[in-house]
Amino acid sequence: MIHFPSKQPHVQTTIFTKMSQMALDEGALNLSQGFPSFDCSEELQALVQFYSKGHNQYAPMAGIPALRQSIAQKTASFYGIDLNPATEITVVSGATEALFAAVHCCVSPGDEVIMFDPSYDAYDPMVRLAGGIPVHIALSAQAGFQIDWSILAQKINPKTRAIMVNSPHNPTGAVWSQADLDALADILKGTQILLISDEVYEHIVFDGKSHASVLLHPELRKRSFVCGSFGKTYHVTGWKIGYCLAPAYLTAEFRKLHQWVTFSTVTPLQHALADFIKIPKHYLELSDFYQKKRDLFVGFFQNSRWKILPSQGSFFQCLDYAAISDEADVDLADRLTREIKVASIPISVFYETAPTDKILRFCFAKSDEMLSEAAQRLAAL
Ligand code: PMP
Ligand code: GLN
Repeated sequence: MIHFPSKQPHVQTTIFTKMSQMALDEGALNLSQGFPSFDCSEELQALVQFYSKGHNQYAPMAGIPALRQSIAQKTASFYGIDLNPATEITVVSGATEALFAAVHCCVSPGDEVIMFDPSYDAYDPMVRLAGGIPVHIALSAQAGFQIDWSILAQKINPKTRAIMVNSPHNPTGAVWSQADLDALADILKGTQILLISDEVYEHIVFDGKSHASVLLHPELRKRSFVCGSFGKTYHVTGWKIGYCLAPAYLTAEFRKLHQWVTFSTVTPLQHALADFIKIPKHYLELSDFYQKKRDLFVGFFQNSRWKILPSQGSFFQCLDYAAISDEADVDLADRLTREIKVASIPISVFYETAPTDKILRFCFAKSDEMLSEAAQRLAAL
């Protein structure tokens, strides 16, 4: 064995890989990792077949012009925002790559990057790999995972390079309002702080609310990398294709990173999506589609010992099991996978300092049959 110092000595395999593998080994219903149990539209599959003839070489580094044009049209019609496809839109291999390239193109050793816990598991290691210092602000379930803006203001100092935000939020399902954007903008006005905004669930917002994208706030938009994923919107998480929207001066730096990470993204899928995203119903109907699934799932817990936490967006539902068990969430998630064959995600793993909350996350991007069966097993506890 050749010895070298690990760059990530404390990093383990992600909870999603761990729980999905365990679900497979145990023959459990997998409500852990966030991916649909159903297929994407046949129309989209047909487009891929069509474009897999003659479109099999490298795509341009920033993405094929047709897809960047379609993203610009969609952003204009959905948000009313005009983006320049040549200088403000980059196609990447999944939002994970967008987040990685955004962090690495602006975070230098010693820079602080603020994130709110529970935070998506990739944020902290990405910042550390860039030599940055993650600064975690813990949000509490009791406060509905709302941000106390005065705490953010206190954490900001001359070393703060960027803030990572995520709405609709994974794992809690919390959703930002326009007032949240305003509060953040008030704090950032006059600073040189950048924003990395993870908006992969932009089209999954419930109860008549709309998605408060940082694109809609000029003070925020001018300093933001907006990271998006086609995986979530079109039921194709395995395609690993997404985009980064950012002003030209940020996009120029972003692309310098992107070209060394993947250089370009799978070509036939770009052509297929360039056509498919022109049809608005596929993303306009998504919130209703998932709201029905959320309601079906939580309906089983109304008269149970589980406490239902609000899910305002994303395809995740958090449930509090304090009335059922004293076990730590990681232990209960393991036990439920083995004993009642339902896999979930413990939310303590998304914190720098694990809270004592007793909460599990369930993904409801699953067939109605699977959701009903899993919910009945859980609700009986
Ligand atoms: N951010 C969040 C909050 C996510 O839930 C995911 C989902 N997997 C990603 C980023 C990564 O998206 P992608 O699969 O497109 O890399
Ligand atoms: N984002 C997905 C989730 O939250 C998992 C993606 C992954 O496995 N990296 O479950």
